[in-house]
Amino acid sequence: MAPLDIASYLFNIGGYVINEIDPMKAPRIAIVGAGPGGLCAANLLHRAGWPVTVFEGDAAFDARDQGGTLDLHPDGGQLALAKAGLLEDFLAVARHEDQGQRVLDHATGAVLREEIPEEGTGDRPEIDRVLLRQLLLRPLGEGVVRWGEPVDAVLSDDSGAHFLRLRDEVAGPFDLVIGADGAWSRVRSALAEQQPTYTGVTFVELWFSQVDERHAALSERVGRGSVFSLHDGAGLFAQRNGGGAIRVYAAFRSRESDTDRPDKALAGITLAELRTRFEGWSPALLDFIDKADRIAAIRPIVALPVDFRWTHKPGLTLLGDAAHVMPPMGEGVNLAMLDAAELAESLIGAADWRQATAAYELAMLERSNRIASETREAFAQWFSAEGAQSLLAHMDQRRAGE
Ligand SMILES: Cc1cc2nc3c(=O)[nH]c(=O)nc-3n(C[C@H](O)[C@H](O)[C@H](O)COP(=O)(O)OP(=O)(O)OC[C@H]3O[C@@H](n4cnc5c(N)ncnc54)[C@H](O)[C@@H]3O)c2cc1C
Repeated sequence: MAPLDIASYLFNIGGYVINEIDPMKAPRIAIVGAGPGGLCAANLLHRAGWPVTVFEGDAAFDARDQGGTLDLHPDGGQLALAKAGLLEDFLAVARHEDQGQRVLDHATGAVLREEIPEEGTGDRPEIDRVLLRQLLLRPLGEGVVRWGEPVDAVLSDDSGAHFLRLRDEVAGPFDLVIGADGAWSRVRSALAEQQPTYTGVTFVELWFSQVDERHAALSERVGRGSVFSLHDGAGLFAQRNGGGAIRVYAAFRSRESDTDRPDKALAGITLAELRTRFEGWSPALLDFIDKADRIAAIRPIVALPVDFRWTHKPGLTLLGDAAHVMPPMGEGVNLAMLDAAELAESLIGAADWRQATAAYELAMLERSNRIASETREAFAQWFSAEGAQSLLAHMDQRRAGE
């Protein structure tokens, strides 16, 4: 791109030219990414009357399969939704009945552990990602999210104003750009060189529709919630989704023949080929591979270093996976939404919003570094020779901490 002539760009959002506002009071804010974190931040800011525009690469809210079901924790995603005034709406649509967890023996399929909260007692109800997105979009109204606008880079001028390089234009200036653009964040690239690295474990995502009608035994095995089975560096995780569907992750450590880009090495893998990675597993569990409708995605699990930080730069900040992507152990969405709520609250409440972002980053990184470290350790144990025992120990610890 040619050198940016900042002066020639108007504050151009969605085709409107917005008059200058006093940035000490309410900065001009761009959020990059309409995932759970970005939309949560947008909600809190929008509610407080702060102008905000969200730039999202997806062409529409349902342009792609958003991925698995999520359990929102009372002190994580649910707290963030409460701050955004959306907790009641969430509780009305969440699947309270799907909070059961079962651990199965890999070789026999026998139940090793079962935790099914009594009706009305579980506090981590589930929601499909697309429903969560819809819930978070509703209060924002038309025009706040610019769909189909992948951000290529963040550019900054000498005055401290920031601009977003899009496909066909440069948007800005913005006083504050919030990077909520996930693991491969472009906003993070303006703050640090560090990129996530592959953990050595890949999740192949499998999809089953209409399970009650088509796979009654398999549906029964999953029950109301999730099923886990781990053995010697591999795992099968099945989770009930809304709409009579089940999603399965067939997870395994890469073989030496796989590369650092297992998504490429495994592209085109068949169900029969996938099954060879689970030799010796019970036929009841292998059904989770054999009977799948299709392979929905190949997800190499990546993570940032557990002590990842960046030097604070005024007007640019990160939240969620952009700041601390870690292996999936049920914390990521909760952290992203909590980051978002805390960032928005500190901006709204601060006498000087510029100082608020620096303080937010310190507290957020302290929390996420700690959780990333715990998560990384637990994930390594799950995918070790002692995976099954460590999963049971993990569940015991969680129960003891409740
Ligand atoms: C297999 C798997 C299972 C998981 N299961 C769970 C779970 O059960 N519970 C849990 O809490 N967490 C889970 N996670 C983690 C969770 O998905 C993330 O932590 C969470 O989605 C982070 O939210 P976010 O808003 O920060 O980022 P994301 O959800 O990644 O959202 C980022 C958004 O930014 C958009 N975007 C990306 N790049 C750009 C760009 N350049 N320009 C514009 N837009 C862009 C994306 O399209 C997306 O909409 C799982 C992760 C994986 C891989």
